[in-house]
Amino acid sequence: MNKLKIGILYFLCFLSIFGFDIQNIRFNDEPKQIVLDIKGENSPKYSVNYDEVTRLIFLEVENSKLLENIDKKIEKDDDYIEKIEAIELNESTAFFITLKEEVKYKVSTWYNPTRIVFNLQKDSDKPIIVIDPGHGGQDPGAVNGRYKEKDLVLSVSKYLRDILKNDFKVIMTRSTDEFISLGERSRIANKYNANLLISIHANASPSKSANGFEVFYYSKNQTEYAKQLANFENSVEEKFGGSITATDLIVNDILYRQNQERSAFLANKLIEYYPIKLGMEKRGSHGANLAVLRGTNAPSILIELGFITNNSEASKMFKEATKKTMAQSIAKIVKEYFDK
Ligand SMILES: [Zn+2]
Repeated sequence: MNKLKIGILYFLCFLSIFGFDIQNIRFNDEPKQIVLDIKGENSPKYSVNYDEVTRLIFLEVENSKLLENIDKKIEKDDDYIEKIEAIELNESTAFFITLKEEVKYKVSTWYNPTRIVFNLQKDSDKPIIVIDPGHGGQDPGAVNGRYKEKDLVLSVSKYLRDILKNDFKVIMTRSTDEFISLGERSRIANKYNANLLISIHANASPSKSANGFEVFYYSKNQTEYAKQLANFENSVEEKFGGSITATDLIVNDILYRQNQERSAFLANKLIEYYPIKLGMEKRGSHGANLAVLRGTNAPSILIELGFITNNSEASKMFKEATKKTMAQSIAKIVKEYFDK
């Protein structure tokens, strides 16, 4: 045996000592996952390629071998996975994973114990978020010269939609300058079985110096301040039409309390992040008897982006860069809320 051959042999032994054993292929249902359990000293190296036409994922785990008792061909045939085949190559292991139609995947490495995880998702599994830009059409909302609440909130809502649509099914109550009654807004949320409603507004005050960010969630009990704001936002119905019927009201008290808890949690997270990110005054989160939130059978919040009636805050908020930052800040907290 010459030196080169001995060298290669030594190298192969080295690989087999420090390589990876694929110990197990298993499946989780909630969330839907394919998990490869791996035993090895350090982080496994692998490559993933996907062919959209055949819906075939090709996974190659470097420097690895299959444990003998592993099933090399799994005909899964459920709603997400058609089949999985594993083969051993010279110094690596390859997996051919065929997905069902419309299934998307994300792959990541997890530790303790080490595993490669494919998260599978269909569009229909995505949480549903209804974004509700306040006012519209004949109802401008708060106005300060050329600054109109209805324009600002629509613009920020569209940015928010574009950020969230990769991870969520996003429904807009309006995406043009049109009037929608408060009752219709919550009916849309209920019709789509929303997991969250985000109503977007901008604030107004007789005091020109009032400024800052605040968030509201639905509560039967409200402070005097929240009552004033609710009166203003609820007055749309009288001024511009539409009515909220008894069937729009949440009937279930347990659901009410659960939704309130989650909404308040989200509102508090937002109040701890957005004003700092935007360099704005933190005005707090409050429970208020807001019609659009009251009628929605899901956690729901109403965001007041800032004060239209404050000249410097209004001119800042109408800048495209600020609108984007506002949308990004809301999106970040909303994503965290769903990840928790
Ligand atoms: Zn408003």
